[in-house]
Amino acid sequence: MTDYDQARWQTGDGRYEPLLSEKDTTRVEIGGAGDGGDESGDDDSPLPDELTRDSLELPALSEPELARHYTRLSQMNYGVESGPYPLGSCTMKYNPSFTEDVAADPNGAVHPDRDDATVEGSLELQYRLQDYLGRIGGMDAVTLQPPAGAAGELTGILIAKAYHEAHGNDRSEVIIPASAHGTNFASAAMAGYDVVELPSGDDGRVDLDALDAAVGEDTAALMLTNPNTVGLFERDIETIAEMVHDAGGLLYYDGANLNALLGRARPGDMGFDIMHYNVHKTFATPHGGGGPGAGPVGVVAELADYLPRPHVRESDAGYELYDPESSIGKLHGFHGNWLVLVKAYAYIARLGDAGLRDASAKAVLNANYLGSQLDYDIPYGPFHHEFAASTGEQDAADVAKRMLDYGVHPPTTKWPEMVPEAMLTEPTEVESRETLDDLARAFNAAAGEDDATLADAPHATTARRIDQVSAARTPRLSWRALDDE
Ligand SMILES: *Cc1c(COP(=O)(O)O)cnc(C)c1O
Repeated sequence: MTDYDQARWQTGDGRYEPLLSEKDTTRVEIGGAGDGGDESGDDDSPLPDELTRDSLELPALSEPELARHYTRLSQMNYGVESGPYPLGSCTMKYNPSFTEDVAADPNGAVHPDRDDATVEGSLELQYRLQDYLGRIGGMDAVTLQPPAGAAGELTGILIAKAYHEAHGNDRSEVIIPASAHGTNFASAAMAGYDVVELPSGDDGRVDLDALDAAVGEDTAALMLTNPNTVGLFERDIETIAEMVHDAGGLLYYDGANLNALLGRARPGDMGFDIMHYNVHKTFATPHGGGGPGAGPVGVVAELADYLPRPHVRESDAGYELYDPESSIGKLHGFHGNWLVLVKAYAYIARLGDAGLRDASAKAVLNANYLGSQLDYDIPYGPFHHEFAASTGEQDAADVAKRMLDYGVHPPTTKWPEMVPEAMLTEPTEVESRETLDDLARAFNAAAGEDDATLADAPHATTARRIDQVSAARTPRLSWRALDDE
């Protein structure tokens, strides 16, 4: 067994930390007449009457009771501040807290409706971040507006579409390797394209013969990540770019794996025309739980006129917003997830060129060290910042549950499908050798266990096996949903 136990705050009847509404069933009324609240104020509310209320009943709890409740819940959770989180492709690196300090500066919290002329500092920061990202990716212009990588993909493909339409090109297909992230297929389809799936070659990379057969006058774009989703560098990227460009298509770079290349190689130099950056992966802004993240998009000069509006530029008068000439429109309100972008800016500025180069070196070194310590087979290599181990006869999902018992978060499981029972593992540069050894111990302990032990795991966590399908399909998002049962 294990020497690990996750925190468990249980009541006498074995239930976990009760809801606040269960902790105290007395209610206090906030905002009603008794509270001295101003009920007449609602007349000015821009909200429809049925969505407003005069008062709110809340459980009668003191501040320490509230603080303890939320602290207990956080202790029963697991995050990158409690241990390693090697989810392959997701790049779950630790978010250094200095970026939070920068984002907490009251001068940064400007209202998005403020007159542009009064927020020049914010515009300058956006301009500088556009510039940083452009230089990192080898792109000529960058929009900060999309709120996630997936939104960046949609933005990029809409830009490709606008470009083709403006040039009278009638193209209906986007080519995507079978190993790509699900969002690539969804983004291309949302933009109205037919998806042509490209099988991987025997070496795990793009199969040039298959690409040659797929590419043609219907090709609007090829979407690719490099290194790919099993961590392999696409060595033939220049040939691939030439094949797509010769056919009149554009090359889209999925930036989720940029952490492997930071400061060393640039998608723009490889021939990509459009890319997104996942700042919550590469530049250590908060990640998970659905956001907020940000997915800035970079393009080559020829596509800059299609960027979302508004865009920030430098002029004689200072920094200003303008609408690019053939803009695809708005992808998000105002300037995107602004404070997330402030954190990304702070991270890049603090690390500088040398720090970013160091991050990619250590990300690749850590993945290769961890891979070298595992009893499981890693079918494809040499890999960079992540690898896909195969659990072989064991069910990868069961192995993942068992790893929780050793106090670590498991990798991404069963994806990509080119590796049977895949454990896509990305430790990132932030882990120490000791933590990598802990991870290897968890993998190798699970590798030696029988199916019965694995099928029953986890044992040491707050919650044991959960019904994942119900949790995803019929989530109960408020205490009222529980009360109604
Ligand atoms: C995470 C990821 C995406 C999508 O990014 P989000 O920010 O989660 O929307 C796209 N492609 C790959 C390879 C990814 O890992």
